[in-house]
Amino acid sequence: MAQLSDDCFAFGGKLLAVEQAEALIAARIPSLPGREEVALHAALGRVLAGPLHAPLPLPPFFNSAVDGFAFRHADLAPAGETRLPVAGRLQAGQGAAALAPGTAIRIFTGAPMPDGADTVMMQEDAREEAGAVVLPPGLKRGANCRPAGEDLPEGAVALPAGRRLSAPEIGLAAALGVARLAVRPRVRVGVFSTGDELAEPGTALGPARTYDSNRFTLMALLAGLPAEAHDLGILPDDPAATRRALAAAAASHDLLLTSGGVSTGEADHVKAAIEAGGSLVFWRLAVKPGRPAAMGVLPKAGGHGIGGTPVVGLPGNPVAAVVTFLHLARPLVLQLAGATPEVLPRFAAAADFAYRKKEGRREYVRVALAFGAGLPVARKYPREGAGLLTSLTESDAFAELPEEVTRVAPGDQVRVLPFRAVF
Ligand code: AMP
Ligand code: MG
Repeated sequence: MAQLSDDCFAFGGKLLAVEQAEALIAARIPSLPGREEVALHAALGRVLAGPLHAPLPLPPFFNSAVDGFAFRHADLAPAGETRLPVAGRLQAGQGAAALAPGTAIRIFTGAPMPDGADTVMMQEDAREEAGAVVLPPGLKRGANCRPAGEDLPEGAVALPAGRRLSAPEIGLAAALGVARLAVRPRVRVGVFSTGDELAEPGTALGPARTYDSNRFTLMALLAGLPAEAHDLGILPDDPAATRRALAAAAASHDLLLTSGGVSTGEADHVKAAIEAGGSLVFWRLAVKPGRPAAMGVLPKAGGHGIGGTPVVGLPGNPVAAVVTFLHLARPLVLQLAGATPEVLPRFAAAADFAYRKKEGRREYVRVALAFGAGLPVARKYPREGAGLLTSLTESDAFAELPEEVTRVAPGDQVRVLPFRAVF
């Protein structure tokens, strides 16, 4: 972790590109040690500590994929209909019988294939007549049945280490009969707001006060990650108090997030507190909104082997805090949690707006998406301020305008990051 500070973008006035910040995090942040076992119901969002090998084949036995009639393919006439006496009946959960040559068995989805049977005719395609079934020609051998292990053979890696567990992963573990999974520890994240103007929601709003929203946004964003978020309240705009609070929190957390107080104003003390107590890794990103973001490391006695607690100073403006959370805090949490790196989803859309921007920085324009024939249309929220919370609540995505772009014209293809799919 100490070597994190080797590339110092903090003093040259140079803005760090978003991609470089992401690369730095991906390359230099080791995962936290340890593992614990959790029941499947508690596994959602956790990170698998080691590979899960299939203890049995999936499906565990050869079975019918449909309701119909099981038979030997060799008994099916190549042309014309085949009439086979129905010699038995097998429902899901019933033990497999043997199939005598020249006969069929009435079978239902999920029932084991009788010994000797290799093909199933769907009931919709067959005709039952007085204890027999009439089968049309043309069905392929092996149709409508599921061999043991066709989904996953026994012993195969069902889920790799580092996989974030969501509904399909939890379902697969259950299907394999695995009731508990070894997962990585959650990342303990401490969340501060900063600013003398901030008031706690639910209390009376005094003059010149504004309610703290970032802490609630950030806690909600962390709820979707393998993190245990701790609300550490509001810090006053005071350098000593900021230093003390960050140093104390660093001792008991794996990651600290602050918002506000990281710009160049006289009341901005977060960057100085990181420099005073630890080391600054970078300050200021080439992104709008979100430029003043900072990252550093604060010492952690008896730490977990990564040499300190990373701290991210997110900007105070609510939209800027969300944009930088996505690019700094989110990958940091995933990296610390030992999760396989994830690329944020993006797709192409057609802009319905004209826009001008500076070269050399990435911009995130809030858009609502309209889906129809052709490319989805990205409709720009009419106002652009980094403090406009409604620009998020009324949008679905960020149009992500790359560094080299200087203008967008209506009809241009833009790349959108559907933030609603991420949080
Ligand atoms: P700062 O960078 O501290 O000057 O903050 C920039 C803007 O964001 C100011 O208008 C702050 O009042 C606002 N802001 C800072 N922190 C928060 C917060 N936690 N919730 C809502 N607004 C905030
Ligand atoms: Mg402030």
